[in-house]
Amino acid sequence: MTDDETTVVAIDGPAGTGKSSVSRLLADEVGAQYLDTGAMYRAASLAVLRAGIDPDDVDAVAELVRGLSIDLRDRDGDTVVLLDDEDVSTAIRADDVTNAVSAVAANARVREQMVELQRQVAADRFVVVEGRDIGTVVFPDAALKVFLTATPRARAERRHRQNLEAGRTSDLDEVLASVNRRDHLDSTRAASPLRRADDAVELDTSDLSLPQVLAALTDLVDQRIGVRR
Ligand code: C5P
Repeated sequence: MTDDETTVVAIDGPAGTGKSSVSRLLADEVGAQYLDTGAMYRAASLAVLRAGIDPDDVDAVAELVRGLSIDLRDRDGDTVVLLDDEDVSTAIRADDVTNAVSAVAANARVREQMVELQRQVAADRFVVVEGRDIGTVVFPDAALKVFLTATPRARAERRHRQNLEAGRTSDLDEVLASVNRRDHLDSTRAASPLRRADDAVELDTSDLSLPQVLAALTDLVDQRIGVRR
């Protein structure tokens, strides 16, 4: 592998499968950059809410998002999300953004813009890219594609724990309803629905710890790409 080559590990799957945690650790473990594509859709959704635009208003949303600058930076292993140069890393995790993001992400023109941005950020790099359509649409030639799954309950419990750990109020039943709602919207939308790429390795993380998932993925990277440190 040379430095002017784009090498992608694509990690897709629904909310709460542990994608973000394991992708970040995996990138660190194998010496790759981490790219959280959900953060981009969240930043766009935050801007939509701030502008008072209905997330389902396809034209108004596309028009607003076209004028935004969304950037991801790495700060000590953490992804910092910049929306028009403002650090919105915390604001994009708020409940109202989580509730609006699937509608914004279903907007085909928004997706076109985000996919372009994702390809630019990844160009000429070794990257672990996490999202919903990375193996199917953004990087169909990825060196390794992984599709993480878990039961809805396991995923809701994970999200609930993360919320509490981050000091956010959380109700397990509400989290479960939100996870199910987002899955439904993400997998039934017309533009790039969430689905496993035919050549993706599927891993059910319901009964696996984070270190176990990390070990499985590190082995896969090692076999397919050869780990770089
Ligand atoms: O991964 P995260 O939960 O932060 O993603 C937020 C939302 O962004 C998802 O529910 C989905 O609607 C959207 N998304 C997407 N395509 C991606 C990444 C995220 O549609 N590649």
